[in-house]
Amino acid sequence: MQLFKKATTSVLIASLALSSPALATTTYSDLPEIGTAAAGTLTVEKEIEYGDAYMRMLRSSQPIVNDPLLSEYVTGLGNSLVANANDVKTPFEFFLIRNRDINAFAFFGGHVALHTGLFLHAKTESELASVVAHEIAHLTQRHLARAMEEQARQTPLTIAAMVGSLMLAIAAPQAGIAAVQATTAASIQGRINYTRSNEKEADRIGIETLSRSGYDVNAMPRFFTRLSDQYRYASKPPSFLLTHPLPDDRITDTRARAEQYPKHSVPMSPTYQLARARVIARFAGIDSNASLDWFERTLKKASPAEAQSLNYGKALVYIDTRQFDKAAALLNPLFAAQPNNRFYLDAMTDLDVAQKQFAPALARLNKALDTQPNNPVLLLNRDYVLVKAEKYKDAIIGLERYTHRHPTDVNGWSMLQEAYEHSGDQAGGLAAQGELYALQARWHKAIANYTQASQLVDLGSLDQARYDARIDQLRVEEARFSALQ
Ligand SMILES: [Zn+2]
Repeated sequence: MQLFKKATTSVLIASLALSSPALATTTYSDLPEIGTAAAGTLTVEKEIEYGDAYMRMLRSSQPIVNDPLLSEYVTGLGNSLVANANDVKTPFEFFLIRNRDINAFAFFGGHVALHTGLFLHAKTESELASVVAHEIAHLTQRHLARAMEEQARQTPLTIAAMVGSLMLAIAAPQAGIAAVQATTAASIQGRINYTRSNEKEADRIGIETLSRSGYDVNAMPRFFTRLSDQYRYASKPPSFLLTHPLPDDRITDTRARAEQYPKHSVPMSPTYQLARARVIARFAGIDSNASLDWFERTLKKASPAEAQSLNYGKALVYIDTRQFDKAAALLNPLFAAQPNNRFYLDAMTDLDVAQKQFAPALARLNKALDTQPNNPVLLLNRDYVLVKAEKYKDAIIGLERYTHRHPTDVNGWSMLQEAYEHSGDQAGGLAAQGELYALQARWHKAIANYTQASQLVDLGSLDQARYDARIDQLRVEEARFSALQ
C-alpha cells in the first residue's frame, strides 16, 4: 500500500500498547529495580513512561516512516536480536525515521530509531543488525539512564526536569519554547553523549548478540570501517559518529573481537534486500530518477538473486511515476514465483489500486489472509483497498478491529478517519482523528475532537457514552504526561 497523504507523521506496528502506562505498570511492576531506590534513580517503570512520552513528541516532530512492510521488517529484525540479548527489562519498539543522514539512537522504554540512510550504506542485513545490536546494548546496559542519574547528581536539576527539557528540545527544536529552557535542554543534550567505555561495552555486547542471533560478527568492524573511511575527510560526519564516537581503536577492538568467533558464512537475506530496495525507491529522500538510476547501475553487477530485489525496487518507482505497464512487466514474474511474499503482494495491491482494479486486489489479499489472518501488512492492505474502492462500511469494520489491536499504529487511525468521513459519520471521523492527536501528545486537540463527537451523536446513546469515557481517559493521560515534565 502507498502511504496516506494525511499521515504526515506516523509510527510502526506496536506489539505492545505503550500508550497505556497502566498496562506497562502491571506488566513490569514485579521486576526488580536497578540500583538503589534513592531519589535520583530512574526506575524501569519511569523509563517506560518517559519512553512513551518521548515517542509521542517524536511523532509530532520527526518524519517517522509509517510503512507497514518496513515496520514489520525492522520489528522482526530488532526482536530477533532482543531474543538473544541479556538484561532485557522493557519491551522493545523499533522504527524508522526518514532521513539520509546515517544515524540510529535508542531511548527509554526500549525505543530504537533507525534512519533510512542506514539502509543506503548497509549492504547486508548483518551490517544493519550490527548497528541495531549496538543500540540494544546501550539500552540493556542502561547507559542513557545512568548518564542521566550521573547528571542529576552533579546539577541542581532533577531527572524529571532533565527528561522534560530533552523532550521539549526534540518537540520544538527551532523555537517556540522559552530561551532559558532551550539553553538548558541543549546543554543537557550535549552532555549526555555516551562515554568511551559505554561505546566499547555496547560493541562487545552487540557482537555477542549478533553471534547468538546467527549474524556475521565481522559485519560490525566492516560497517564501522566503511562509515569511518567514507567520512574521514568529510566536513560533517554522520550523526551516528557524533553521538557514538568511533575512534580507530574501537574498530581495531571490534575486529579483534570478531576474529575470536568461529567463522561461518551467512547467506544473503532476501528480505533485507527487498526492504532496502523499498527504502531506496520510496523513503531515502531521493527523487525517482535518482533511485531508478541507482537500481540500473546496481543491476549491472548483481547476482540473479540480488536482481529480484532490484527489479522490485524499479517496479515501485514505475508504480509511483504511473508507468504501469513497465511495473507490471517486472512485478508479475516476481509475484508468480513467490505468491506469499508480502513485498510483492503489497506492490501488486498498489499497481491494482492505481488502476482502480479493486476486485482482483481484494481477492488476492483475502486469499493471503486465509493463512495469515492477523498479519498487519495484509490487514492494512485489505482495508486500504476497501477505502479506495469506497466500501467504507467494510473498511470501518476491519479498521475498528485493527486499531483496537494496534492502538499506536497511525496508519490504522488515518484510514479509519478517512473511511468514517467518506461514509458520512462525522463523529467517527473526529474520534479517529482525536486518537492521532493523542499519539502526538496534542491532548487539547484530542479532547476537543471527542467533545465535538459527543455533541454530534444522540443524547444518551452508546456512542456518546463511549466518547465521554474516552474524554475522561485522555484527561488522565494528559495529567500524567504533564507531570513528567
Ligand atoms: Zn553507541
